[in-house]
Amino acid sequence: MSSSNSSIPDPILEGLQRGWKVFGGARAAAPAELECDVAIVGSGAGAGITAELLTRAGLRVVLVEEGPLRSSSDFKPQREDKAYANLYQEAAGRKTADQGMNILQGRCVGGSTTINWTGSFRTPKDALETWAREFGLNEFTESQMAPWFEQVERRLNIGEWQTSPNENNAVLKRGADKLGIPAFVVQRNVKGCWNLGSCGMGCPTNAKQSMLVTTIPAALDRGAQLLVQTRAQQLEFGKDGLVQALLCQPIELNGTPAGAPVRIRARHYVLGGGAINNPGLLLRSKAPDPHACWASAPSCTPRWPAAR
Ligand SMILES: Cc1cc2nc3c(=O)[nH]c(=O)nc-3n(C[C@H](O)[C@H](O)[C@H](O)COP(=O)(O)OP(=O)(O)OC[C@H]3O[C@@H](n4cnc5c(N)ncnc54)[C@H](O)[C@@H]3O)c2cc1C
Ligand code: SF4
Repeated sequence: MSSSNSSIPDPILEGLQRGWKVFGGARAAAPAELECDVAIVGSGAGAGITAELLTRAGLRVVLVEEGPLRSSSDFKPQREDKAYANLYQEAAGRKTADQGMNILQGRCVGGSTTINWTGSFRTPKDALETWAREFGLNEFTESQMAPWFEQVERRLNIGEWQTSPNENNAVLKRGADKLGIPAFVVQRNVKGCWNLGSCGMGCPTNAKQSMLVTTIPAALDRGAQLLVQTRAQQLEFGKDGLVQALLCQPIELNGTPAGAPVRIRARHYVLGGGAINNPGLLLRSKAPDPHACWASAPSCTPRWPAAR
């Protein structure tokens, strides 16, 4: 991580100087064995919110992130070659099996929120209804979710755009209006945005309220431990079908193993590695399918995930 010589403060460098417990990468190696209340895989949208909530509740949290710790001082050059190689899964080259579609996902502290475009909207009503209908998630109604959305909107400073749309976007809006397609301006999670338009390479001003500058620093200030450039390799299951430990492998930036593995024992495990990597971890771990017994015997109680 480079040092900052500009007037924009770098909250990550400041936090490291305050003594945050960050291991891996260029920093000291993590101990071979760690114990905590909750081990969280990833440090993006899901993991960051979870880490802040749990550390505020007084729990001992360990976050495991396979990407590097980068911050506004690193983002200043705004070079796509550096940003994609450092901050994205597979250097922004992740694709569907048929190579037909590119999939952009973050791989750094803050996850995809470090490099996303800040459009912030509540889960649409029809999506919540689909989840209820297709997956039985009946408690996620608009009204039950409202207090949670409000809490996140406050935490991440989500609000209206402070500037008029540029001509590209104004043309789109006029076209949509003419065609009768409903179009609206999305809200954003920014504070004092400079409108540089380079959110995808990391925000050099810390205006973007990503997990990197909000929930992760808050969790680290409350004693959470963060393992960077460390891949959650496998969940270890006991004979009772419950998770006994999370095995992690420190890695180089290019993904090759670097150093001794770390074994984390926790009371609970949270998978916040994203929609593609979480299933990968579960498959590597040969995790039992908690839904399998529902199909065969509807009265059967799923054994996983569960607390020990
Ligand atoms: C370029 C871009 C622009 C986007 N723009 C918007 C937008 O404007 N509005 C919007 O709503 N959404 C946007 N998104 C999507 C949004 O950011 C994601 O949906 C959201 O961040 C997903 O959250 P998550 O917690 O599932 O995973 P992520 O935020 O992706 O975090 C997952 C983290 O887990 C880490 N990880 C994965 N597997 C492991 C493992 N085995 N061990 C250790 N660490 C692991 C990854 O390295 C990553 O850092 C954008 C995404 C991208 C990539
Ligand atoms: S200043 Fe605004 S537009 Fe520029 S990267 Fe940060 S959030 Fe994005």
